[in-house]
This record gives sequence, C-alpha cells and structure tokens, in this order.
Amino acid sequence: MRALQLVADRTLELVEVPDPPAPAPGQVEIAIRAVGLNHLDLWGFRGMAFVRRALPLTVGVEAAGEILRVGSADSRFRPGDPVVMYGALTCNACPACRAGRDNLCENPAGVKGFHIDGFACERVVMDERLVIPVPVGVSLEDAACAPVAFSTVEHMLFDNAKLEPGETILVQAGGSGIGTVAIKMARAIGCTIITTVGDDEKVEKARALGADHVINYRTQRFATITRKVTGKKGVDVVFEHVGADTWNGSLLCLKRGGRLVTCGSTSGVSAEMNLMHLFQQQLRIIGSFGAPMSAIRRGLAKMASGMTPVIDMVVPLADFSRGLTRLETRRVFGKIIVTL
Ligand SMILES: [Zn+2]
Repeated sequence: MRALQLVADRTLELVEVPDPPAPAPGQVEIAIRAVGLNHLDLWGFRGMAFVRRALPLTVGVEAAGEILRVGSADSRFRPGDPVVMYGALTCNACPACRAGRDNLCENPAGVKGFHIDGFACERVVMDERLVIPVPVGVSLEDAACAPVAFSTVEHMLFDNAKLEPGETILVQAGGSGIGTVAIKMARAIGCTIITTVGDDEKVEKARALGADHVINYRTQRFATITRKVTGKKGVDVVFEHVGADTWNGSLLCLKRGGRLVTCGSTSGVSAEMNLMHLFQQQLRIIGSFGAPMSAIRRGLAKMASGMTPVIDMVVPLADFSRGLTRLETRRVFGKIIVTL
C-alpha cells in the first residue's frame, strides 16, 4: 500500500510499504480517506531533537476513514462504517485511562504520526477501543478534524478553562485551524469573542465566523485594544497557542481571576513573565495537550448538529508538504485536509 513517510527532517516521500496484518480479535482494519493537518505535523516535519522516533515514519496525526474488516464477529463495527481514530496508543490500564482521562495516560506507547507510524497511508489496523464512530450526516473530510482540532479545543475551553455562556474570550490566531474552531464553539454558547489575525483579509473572515472584535496583530496592539473593548476589565478566558510572541500580552488581557488555557507555542517555547502580576491578579494558567476520547465524541456531536469546521484547502496525499508550507507561513484560514 502507499504511505507518506518522513525519511529525514523536512523530507517526505510517497512510498510503497507492506500491507498491515489482518485485524486480530478486538481490532479493525480501516481505509483512511482524509487526514487533517496540524502544527504537530509541522513540528515532526521540521525535526525535534528530543523526540524519540525512528525514521522513516508514516506521518499524519488525525484522520477519518471507513471500516474495511473487523477482527471478530461480535465487533461493534461493520464494513463501511465511517470512523475516526484516537491518535495516542494509551495503555487502557492506568488510573488515568480507567477514569477516561486518556490524554493523561501514564504509559502511552506514542502518538501516531509523531513518535510512531501515523495515518497518512491507505490502511491501518487499530484496537477497536481507540476507534470512534462518525455520526450520520458528517462528511469524512469534516470528521478528519475531530480527533485533534475539534477535541483539543473542546477540551481546552470546556474541560480545562470552564468557559461559561456569556463570558468574554480572547482567541489568539483566530484564523488557524484550532482558532476557527474556538470561535465557533465560543459563539455557540453566546460568548463575546475578541480575536487576533495576521492580515486584513482574515479580519472579515473571522468576523463572519462570529468574532465580535477582530484585531490585526501586525498593525495593532492586541492587549491595548482588548483592554479598551472590555472597558479596561479584561477577558474571562484567553485561548493561547502562539506562545512567546503573545504570552505576556495575553496575560495582560485577563481580568482579575481570569483563566489562560494554552496548547501550543508556535512562535517560540520560552517567555519571561511577571510573577507579581500572576498572583496579585489571581490568574490561572492551564496547560492542555490532546484530549480524552470523550471530547472527540462531543466534537463529532457538534459537527452533526451543524458546527462544521472551516476548511481552508483540500489536497491529495502527494501535496501533503504543500499543505505544511501553507501552515508554516501562516497563510491558512481554517483546516487543511489531505485526501486519499
Ligand atoms: Zn493509561
């Protein structure tokens, strides 16, 4: 079968690899139809010295597909069923796994597409427990945004930051894959949304998604404007993933007792911060990475009720790296989907 593999830092090759083994009892074989691109792909593509992995590595961290074969007659799946897959191989035995807190697993065997072979290939065999049905009416291209993008945002906003209806939120990089999802999810519960974008063309697009105030961070100071539009009070929640460039500005945007939730650091991993501001303003900073499987199910349910992801571009597997370049240069508005 065909697989897209990282053979060296910044070098992807479409190659023939052996077919996966037949599914054992408790497993299913899945035909991959669509892969969603994420910053995690970009980190892997650039190469990170501290990541333990062996090359060549099949890329692709989130995907949707269709069941091809089941490993046992009593499977809850049937051939043709649309599904998405959990990307981390959790142990299913530790206290976190048993409590349904999958992304806190104490013994994960790696993240697919990052540490171990991922989903950018024609077929995979997975344990059924890591496979989630796609509800009727959700396309596989949309569903491919559920395992990482939708679930990460769902987990950040509602499990971690406890965003409530009517609150005010600052969404950093509102044109990114997860930024567009955050705007839609916050809008759906009636929040006031302030967001930042990197060019004027994205201002109107972010407004059309439901943002109340859109700031071009290249020409305007987002912290100053956020203080102004909130009557100097600040926001209840900041949705962060930009990191070094925006970190201190994001903290300054919070009201007393506000919550900052972050899942990324695309502009750099280190920042200095004012600890006096942190404790005097009683701020809460919450790190978030991945999501439990329950958040994927909630994300898919939102898609089924009409909250579809913003798709920037759909490209064939051979153009995976063109999609990564578009992500890296921040021209993207929404999600890039690779189809097989
Ligand atoms: Zn575990």
